[in-house]
Amino acid sequence: MNYCRKCLYPEIAVNLIYDDEGICSACRVAEDIDNISEQEWKDREKKFIQILEKGRKKSNGGYDCIIAVGGGKDSYWQTYIVKEVYGFNPLLVTYHGNNFLPEGQANLDRMREVFNVDHLIFGPGVDSLIKLNRLGFKKMGDMNWHNHAGIDILPMIIAVKYRIPIVVWGEIPWDVSGMFSPDDYVKYNKRMVLEHDMRGFTLHDMIGEEGLEAKDLIWLNMPTDEEFADVGVEGIYIGNFFSWDPNKQVKLMIDKYKWEPSRQPFERTYRRMSNLDDMHENGIHDYMKYIKFGYGRASDHASKDIRLGYMTRQQGIEMVKKYDHVKPRRDLERWLEYVNMTEEEFDRIADTFRDSRVWTKNKQGEWSKDNIWDFEKRINLEVDNKKDSL
Ligand SMILES: [Zn+2]
Repeated sequence: MNYCRKCLYPEIAVNLIYDDEGICSACRVAEDIDNISEQEWKDREKKFIQILEKGRKKSNGGYDCIIAVGGGKDSYWQTYIVKEVYGFNPLLVTYHGNNFLPEGQANLDRMREVFNVDHLIFGPGVDSLIKLNRLGFKKMGDMNWHNHAGIDILPMIIAVKYRIPIVVWGEIPWDVSGMFSPDDYVKYNKRMVLEHDMRGFTLHDMIGEEGLEAKDLIWLNMPTDEEFADVGVEGIYIGNFFSWDPNKQVKLMIDKYKWEPSRQPFERTYRRMSNLDDMHENGIHDYMKYIKFGYGRASDHASKDIRLGYMTRQQGIEMVKKYDHVKPRRDLERWLEYVNMTEEEFDRIADTFRDSRVWTKNKQGEWSKDNIWDFEKRINLEVDNKKDSL
């Protein structure tokens, strides 16, 4: 397996390309963002205000925009920018997938209080959610499919129903995949949502399985193109308009609003400020990413921190060594109980998702893979050999 020479991403990670110097496209896009001048950030900020003003005009005395929030540090920061800094009147919309950590729930509930905003929280029936957890895991190795789908679709349903033309989203998926340049000003679009976040599955793949009926999944009906066009709905990513540093933003939100990070450490990553809206996101959901692609959230978080200069590559590798392989006990046991599944069944299904480019099975039936430290050794050996032959 090959890894990026700058961050920690393996070559088979989703949508990455490596250049001649062995640097991945996500790192190159991060460099592009780094090279944006202060003046350009100011111009981008102006563009953001113009879009919201357009929304205010169109909504005609209603909400100026929707902010899709999960109560996380980014939700707070978005609301802070839109409401506190620029004085717009947003409606907050939340998809509630039923598995918030207590501190995540407290952060979510406090948004109405600290920002004095209206907040719509929508949660599907719990039995339907449990069925979707099981089904997502069996179909695509992702028990949190319902979360990705609900978070992406619900604010758009509300935008169409209440005729609110601007929906503000958070971070853009640049840094994960390096798919877009900052100049693309990528917007919310159905194709991205369906192909990436929803992995090509829609509610029609779920109806009729595990006893799920159409009436259980009304909230998964993406508005039609005609409905979007009728209201002129536009989904923008705030990350296109403001320089994005989660470490700085979270500090500001803690100082200003007493936003609370995770009370106890996660089992699979060192960061305590992400994904408090679903206790399994950093746990068993992320373990499935490791099973599939051979890397996990510690690789994601450390790669981001390396690019932002908070960590050296060597420190990042230590984080990967410590966390990526961990089977999260506390989290797995809770999820198995939630969906009524045995660990044996979990392991059997999980193994069907292992990428054969990553994993090999030995005679004893144990899985193994090439790691970033093996790659480092190989690279250093190549360099030594070159020196010797000179
Ligand atoms: Zn990279």
